[in-house]
Amino acid sequence: MVTDESRLRLLLYKWALKNALDHGGRAQEKPVIAKVVAEDPGAKAAMSFLLREVKAVVERVNAMSLEEIAQALSEIDPSLLTERRAREERRTLPPLPNAVKGNVVTRLPPEPSGFMHIGHALSGLLNYLYKEMYGGKLWLRFEDTDPRKVRPEYYDSYRDGYSWVGIRWDHEKNNSDDMELFYEHARRLIEEGKAYACTCDRERMRRLRAEGVECEHRSREREWHLEMWDGMLSGRFGEGEVSLRLMGDMRSANTTLRDPVIMRIVDHPHPLKGDRYHVWPTYDFAVSIEDAVCGVTHVLRTSEFALRNELQDLIRSYLGMPNPTYVEYERFEFEGTPVARREIRALIEKGVIGGWDDPRLATVAAIRRRGIVPEALREFVLRYVAMTQSRKVYSWELLHAINRRLIDGTTPRMFFVDGPALLKLRGFEPVEVELPLHPEGHMGTRKIRASGELYVRFQDLLEVGVGGVLRLKHLANVRVLEIGDGRALGEALPGPPEPGMRVVQWVPVESAVPVRVLVPGPLFGPDGAFNEESLRVVEGYAERNVLNLKRGDRVQFERFGYCVRDSDEEPVFVFTHR
Ligand SMILES: [Zn+2]
Repeated sequence: MVTDESRLRLLLYKWALKNALDHGGRAQEKPVIAKVVAEDPGAKAAMSFLLREVKAVVERVNAMSLEEIAQALSEIDPSLLTERRAREERRTLPPLPNAVKGNVVTRLPPEPSGFMHIGHALSGLLNYLYKEMYGGKLWLRFEDTDPRKVRPEYYDSYRDGYSWVGIRWDHEKNNSDDMELFYEHARRLIEEGKAYACTCDRERMRRLRAEGVECEHRSREREWHLEMWDGMLSGRFGEGEVSLRLMGDMRSANTTLRDPVIMRIVDHPHPLKGDRYHVWPTYDFAVSIEDAVCGVTHVLRTSEFALRNELQDLIRSYLGMPNPTYVEYERFEFEGTPVARREIRALIEKGVIGGWDDPRLATVAAIRRRGIVPEALREFVLRYVAMTQSRKVYSWELLHAINRRLIDGTTPRMFFVDGPALLKLRGFEPVEVELPLHPEGHMGTRKIRASGELYVRFQDLLEVGVGGVLRLKHLANVRVLEIGDGRALGEALPGPPEPGMRVVQWVPVESAVPVRVLVPGPLFGPDGAFNEESLRVVEGYAERNVLNLKRGDRVQFERFGYCVRDSDEEPVFVFTHR
């Protein structure tokens, strides 16, 4: 009868946990009893016992936090947890205006002047997903016509990054391969009176553009402009001495139309072209022509570019080229994370952060290192990218929630004790326990040999207190007898887990592996100031099985979070998310 009662008590506990989990942490007595009887019809005979016990069980479960409830249930019957991972509705992108099935051409236009960040990955995915949705072509086109900014290593950083997120492109080119084409179109514009040479210095040009005043060069005869252009190409002039400007509208409210420079002299070798060219197109000129040359039908861009659409359309109309349809979306920015390369480079140069793959950054290298999977980015785009301007800064938690759901089923569980205290157990016989690598059981098991000396979280001991009982997961119940400075004495109790017991992870002292976990936080606070505690190093002990993980392998440290092993030599991990 005693064993029967403890079995029924465990059943009550299990269904109280499940009921609480399904109802925001509040279990109710009646449904719990109904579930117990449904699972074991013989329990009806012990109805008076059930009615007597259920109140206390429900009360103690309702006093637990949702996380504690899930933790307790994961030991008793993890299959009841799986329903929580219900499939969420899959979203699709909003329709693209003016899209013809089979003929949508989009592009990835990276400037190889800094490492690829999550914003490039997400906007790249947007272009790719639209191309896939309608059928057509996707270009990878490097906007590399500013020799001072371009670095050779960044071309591959984008190729790798786009491949990693699962983007397949149909064609690839560099704008710098089309220099002769830019020269040809520039000359044509001069001949047709739509571009002119100007020798104003940068400051004067800026001032006159701001004032909406034309300079004297604009009205000079065509022959002079052609001669100056030839002089630019032949190397007669140095940087800043003369440039080619578009004949725009100096009084336009859209200041980008006030005769912008379209070709300028740059006295700097290009990483791919060397010294071959020293007259380079500006961004707008190169992009206008290339989008037309590539047959781009849809330009997806952030609203900060809105004013330039008009300029690029004007350039193309001068050249008799067709214009694409523009689709605007809000820039992908994540809270507390600088996306601007200038800011990141400054932080690296100052030694404030480690490099382009520092886990606090939002570069593709960094998010990859800390365990975000490419599918999560894809789903993020489908779910959150709206063609609206309502949201500007995304919460990391949105991405983490998707990532968590994607990686959970394939990530093994292990024990890691942060802030450890040494717990000596009285009356405990050494034992080898076999624990599931995943609560659902499909990943096999791992073994841990436990003796009477264990590491547990000091905080757990303090919160349970002397005289309290805690549950060492899959091992034993322990009554805490004494708590000292970083150590404690306990007594192992027989029996299964009981309602209200805190379920904790543990690591045997004799096989403990000292582990460090790098936990990235926001680089900047809401006030924009650098966050001194943006990278926390959490130290503790992990079970020996972590040594089987290789660099890049994922693990969920129970009650701590998902992590990725960061080094083959040392047991160092990077924190992914809770
Ligand atoms: Zn001028």
